[in-house]
Amino acid sequence: MRASVAVLLSGLLLGQSVPYVRTKTDDGSHCLRWPVSSGIRRTLSFVQSAPGDPALGQGAFDAVSRSAQTWEAQLQACGSLDLAEGAHSASRFVGYTQSGQNENLVLFRTELCSDVVPPGDPCHTGATCGNSYDCWDHGATIVGLTTSSYVIATGEVLDADVELNAATATPTIVDSPPCSPGAISTSCVANDVQNATTHELGHFLGLDHSPDPSSTMYATEPLGETSKRVLDSGSKQFVCDVYPAGQASRDCTSSGGGNGNGSGGCSSAGGAVAVGPGLLLLLLALVTRRSRPTGRARA
Ligand SMILES: [Zn+2]
Repeated sequence: MRASVAVLLSGLLLGQSVPYVRTKTDDGSHCLRWPVSSGIRRTLSFVQSAPGDPALGQGAFDAVSRSAQTWEAQLQACGSLDLAEGAHSASRFVGYTQSGQNENLVLFRTELCSDVVPPGDPCHTGATCGNSYDCWDHGATIVGLTTSSYVIATGEVLDADVELNAATATPTIVDSPPCSPGAISTSCVANDVQNATTHELGHFLGLDHSPDPSSTMYATEPLGETSKRVLDSGSKQFVCDVYPAGQASRDCTSSGGGNGNGSGGCSSAGGAVAVGPGLLLLLLALVTRRSRPTGRARA
């Protein structure tokens, strides 16, 4: 992750204008996108997993729905697909299985895997503890993480799931005031659910992190942030460029595909894990950035 920070800083110092950064396949030869055929508007379904966040109840479900509606508004403005929410699901499974139902899920993990998984459990070697024990198996400062499964040869996404950290983060749904570092609760803004989910749904659609600190797709969120609830102009442009209305969705190797061949930004966090012939999982995360007094900084 440190190398990624260096890339971000050098880009800013050079004054580069990068409206958005697309997520690439592991070998860099394609950009991730949901397949959409020319002339056919696609409905892309996602579902929220129940139970949601036990501390927030229905309000957390509503916040996630608002995040999806934000992207849907832009997709309706210039895109070729619709993001549609289905009825809640009981599934807690993140990832893709070739014979599975493969719902595109948004779910909260409320327990740390390190607290609930026995040390010798075989899930540790297979990196499957999150699904096996319904627990948060990622870093403590990560607030949200999207797992996209795609075809290596094309970059076409098959499945994408968003996990939200309700184990070590403090998801909140109020609009203000920002929480103070020493007084975090659900009555102030700590890790705003709509803020994090809007960012993660950008990954869901194929965006990587932006070097612009004001972007929805910037890799970190300070305590109390709500600004990522709103799409920045670059993220809006991504929708118009990659999912142009009436046309097939665009790879970064095809002509007129936006800036998908642009350099850098943060690369994937956690690397890629082979899950089957011709398939990869890609993990992208939003990380908290605490204010100075707590001394916690990671990007
Ligand atoms: Zn992210």
